[in-house]
Amino acid sequence: MTRLVMKFGGTSVATLDRIKRAAKRVGREVANGHEVIVIVSAMAGKTNELVGWVNETSPFYDAREYDAVVSSGENVTAGLMALTLQEMDIPARSWQGWQVPLKTNGAHGAARIEEIPTRNMDVKFAEGMKVAVVAGFQGVSPEGRITTLGRGGSDTTAVAFAAAFDAVRCDIYTDVDGVYTTDPRISSKARKLDRIAFEEMLELASLGAKVLQTRSVELAMRYKVKLRVLSSFDEYDEDAGTLVCDEEEIMESKAVAGVAYSRDEAKMTLISVADKPGIAAAIFGPLAAAGVNVDMIVQNISEEGRTDMTFSCPVDQVKRAEKAMSEAKAAGKIDYSELVADTDVAKVSVVGIGMRSHAGVAARMFESLRDENINIKVITTSEIKISVLIDRKYMELAVQALHDCFELEKA
Ligand code: ASP
Ligand code: MG
Repeated sequence: MTRLVMKFGGTSVATLDRIKRAAKRVGREVANGHEVIVIVSAMAGKTNELVGWVNETSPFYDAREYDAVVSSGENVTAGLMALTLQEMDIPARSWQGWQVPLKTNGAHGAARIEEIPTRNMDVKFAEGMKVAVVAGFQGVSPEGRITTLGRGGSDTTAVAFAAAFDAVRCDIYTDVDGVYTTDPRISSKARKLDRIAFEEMLELASLGAKVLQTRSVELAMRYKVKLRVLSSFDEYDEDAGTLVCDEEEIMESKAVAGVAYSRDEAKMTLISVADKPGIAAAIFGPLAAAGVNVDMIVQNISEEGRTDMTFSCPVDQVKRAEKAMSEAKAAGKIDYSELVADTDVAKVSVVGIGMRSHAGVAARMFESLRDENINIKVITTSEIKISVLIDRKYMELAVQALHDCFELEKA
């Protein structure tokens, strides 16, 4: 018997009819000879509603109770999916996280998976269960309390099960038909990719392509889980969707696979910082301690022992960053004249494993932005990614220009 993991996102289980539709897909895979582990999200919108209730009841809530409440949406869909499968004469049962048990650490609201013992479920499969329907997004802490894995966490549940049960594949059913070269809402020329490498997907996911939770991609890469992203609304065929796989399985290697963007960036500049050894540590230590996720960093040339230090962070962390810096200044740990925040910036990035072997990608990117008269404020690069910070009002133009420049509409 081969094991297959199928994950259905919130829109795919949003109504009883959609649950039925999803169950039919599961039924077909059972008929194909698989034992299936189905991971379900809460019905679309449900988790947001639950989070809202928690916030309204208790603004500084006990995170353990937050998890008790927000994990409940998945319990409902798991039970309903099991019932729907039983109505189709398929032996199925639901599993809440603690019943498996999916063991996590105690970081409520953003728990990490530590272990998934397979024994309980293996016993049930051996007894004739064909489908295990697992409530995504939830687990149990060492203290025996319910935990959740962070928003979008059922993707990570799915990949973790695929790894633990050595599944042939992990199919992620969602409301889009795959991973695109860029956001189709921004460029009408966006093209669905048949395959994308783990590393590329990781960059795209963390850069704001919302198809998969970033941690699920990290996990898939680590355990070499074949991931497929596909729509639960289209008619099914074997080649549907996008396969996220090892780079060896990708034949063509274009320099750039996709263009990603992130709208919610801010650029912060510390003006006239005393330039001496330890200054970066003195700045970024307090920022990290304050929970500011610093992304890009640039230190300008120093003149007469003073320099400007620029960094970017999510726009909703600007206040926190300002507080951390003024406190460090007041404590005499850093010395600067002014902190300037530019909250009207966006980040646009090109990503591709082909960059390792194609020269001149950065030059082409910068020329393309120059031709559109877009000023670049900050640049960072990695082996497979080049990111620029630009004025937010030019973000869509930049994405379209770069998509054209690297001819991503062509296969
Ligand atoms: N229902 C949870 C959320 O909306 C988990 C998930 O769907 O992945 O974040
Ligand atoms: Mg999701």
